[in-house]
This record gives sequence, C-alpha cells and structure tokens, in this order.
Amino acid sequence: MGLSFSGLFSAFSRDLAIDLGTANTLVYAKGLGIVVREPSIVAINTSENGESRVQAVGDEAKKMLGRTPSNIVAIRPMRDGVIADFEVAEQMLSHFIRTAQRQSSYFSWFQSDVVIGVPAEITQVERRAVRDSAKKAGAANVYLVEEAMSAAIGAGLPVTAPTGNMIVDIGGGSTDVAVISLSGIVYTKTLKIAGNAMDENIVHYIKRKYRLLIGERTAENIKTQIGSAYKLDESIEMEIKGRSLESGIPKTLVINDTEIREALADTVDAIVETIKIALERTPPELAADLVDKGIILTGGGSLLKNLDIRLREETNLPVSIAEEPLLSVVMGVGKMLSDTKLLKSVCQKG
Ligand code: ADP
Ligand code: MG
Repeated sequence: MGLSFSGLFSAFSRDLAIDLGTANTLVYAKGLGIVVREPSIVAINTSENGESRVQAVGDEAKKMLGRTPSNIVAIRPMRDGVIADFEVAEQMLSHFIRTAQRQSSYFSWFQSDVVIGVPAEITQVERRAVRDSAKKAGAANVYLVEEAMSAAIGAGLPVTAPTGNMIVDIGGGSTDVAVISLSGIVYTKTLKIAGNAMDENIVHYIKRKYRLLIGERTAENIKTQIGSAYKLDESIEMEIKGRSLESGIPKTLVINDTEIREALADTVDAIVETIKIALERTPPELAADLVDKGIILTGGGSLLKNLDIRLREETNLPVSIAEEPLLSVVMGVGKMLSDTKLLKSVCQKG
C-alpha cells in the first residue's frame, strides 16, 4: 500500500472503522484506507482435555471450511446478522484490530476512536459485547452505527437530505432493506436470508438432482460464477467436482446457469418480496422520491448476475448497484471517522 506524504502524516492517527459483517470483516484505518479484508470465520481447535484455542482466523480459517479434522471446527460467529457466538466474535474482532494495528508502526491506542457498523437487529447485549471487545482491544471511544446507514453513506447517497433513499444490503447472513431520510432510518426490514442461503440452496439442489455432495465453498464458487436472478443473454456452464452419494467416490459433472437459477429461485423470490413490502410501507412522500432515485443495491449478494434487472422488472423503479458493493459499509464508517458532524448525526449512543 503506497503512502503519500500527507498519508504518512495521518498514519499517526489511531482511528479505525470496522464493518463486522456476517461473511466478511473489513477494517479501515484513517489515513491508510482498508487494512483488513477477511472472511468472518474462526477455526477453533479443541484438545483432548477439552481446552479450546483459536487455530486460525479469516482467510486461513476459510481455507479450512469443510476440511477440518474432528477436533477443529470452523465457526462463523456473526451468523444470520447477529452474534451467534460472543466469545469467538470477541476473539475475531480483537484479532482483526491487532492486524490493523500492525499495518502502521505509528499506531498507538491512546485516545483512539473506533466506529463499528453493526446489524440493525442486534440486541442491547450484543451491542455491549461488540463495544466491550473493542475497548478491551484498546479503543478509547467506541461508536456503533447502523450498517444500513453506513452502507448508504459509503455508496454515496445523500443521507442527510430531506429526500427518501432506499438501500438494500445483501450480505452473507442477512438482507437489510432500509429507507433513509434526514440522517435517520425511516423504515427497516431484515430478512435472514442472503448469500449463505444461496450457497445452501445450491448444495441441496446438486444433491437432489445429481446425488452429488459438494461443500459450502464449491457452492459459493458456483453461485458467483454462474448464478443469476434473471435469464442471461448467453447460457454459461461450469464443471464441478464432488462426492457421489451412490458410489461414494469423487465425481465431475457439468451444470449450467438455468439449473442454478432454479436452485436460487426461492431465495431470490424472498429477497424480491421483502423489497416490495418495504416499498408498500414507505411513507408516500418518500415513496415519491424513490420513483426518481430508485433502489441502490449493495453487499456481496448484489453481485448476483441480473439481480438488478429482475428488480427493475418487478418494481418498475430504477435500480443500481453501488460502485464497490463489498466495500460500501467500511467506506461509510471510514467517512464518519473524519466527519464528526456526520458521525454525531447518525450515531447511536455507545
Ligand atoms: P456481510 O456484510 O454479511 O459480511 P458481504 O457484503 O461481504 O456480506 O457479502 C458476502 C456475500 O456475497 C457472500 O455470501 C458471497 O458469497 C456473496 N458474493 C460475493 N460475490 C458475489 C457474486 N459475484 N455473486 C453473488 N454473490 C456474491
Ligand atoms: Mg455487510
């Protein structure tokens, strides 16, 4: 990562912004940009005497998914948009904060600010857990902000203006729909179905149709390569490998986009339905704004091929995808680090 002279100056700053996602965690350091971008996965090793310790975090842990011996389990502590495992979530957060600290030798935690984007439906207890682990890792001030608001800011929406903006964040564990106006969230709805559910749909489909067992990571590859929400201009195929349920031995076969579209249909329908309900519940003045401004899609799931076309077809509204959908939240929380006024206007006490 190149450092300009002014970048070097601000590298003295201690402030961090974190997107604690169900699929990926990203950390932004003021003056440096994104310094951590890794899967939210922790591999835990339990020894014979029952003591457990962290074996790997992030990329290293993801490589182990589906490949671990019985004494190691790969955990996604943020499953379904909430904290499924407090202790592991805390260990993961402090691991990533330490990784961020190492990126800058000037880094010191004296009076540092940390802004963390958290899911809309997080409970008070979970909120406290996130705050406490950031404090334990050395942060002086911890600000928790809603992910939807962060995503909207990161995607460049005018959140402080008196106009309605709809942002749909399709992540790993949840799809969050929010209508934002005047720095506040006017309507929000969380569907606990998103990218992970699509992967599971593919695993089940391949098992039922071909009696072939594939792992979660293979399913995710299939989704990102040939998955779609609406008929493609040109059909695409892909060779996949798995274990035959009949013979028990490894096998290769070729699948196409039509099959995967069928596999994903229920999940995509549920996402579309949630967006339609949100539109019905949006106050009329703000709904009128959406006719011109449309819907902004963000989160990794928005990269599913032709999802924007499908939504345009179903809602008759303009639909666009944020420039860097996987980075919207972290860029949004990053922006708040250097815009105290903005931070104050959207921050929930923490
Ligand atoms: P979270 O905020 O929950 O951590 P992300 O916004 O990082 O989630 O998105 C991760 C999800 O996006 C994963 O389920 C991943 O498989 C999915 N994803 C990433 N790229 C694509 C793609 N090209 N097509 C479809 N899904 C994708
Ligand atoms: Mg997210």
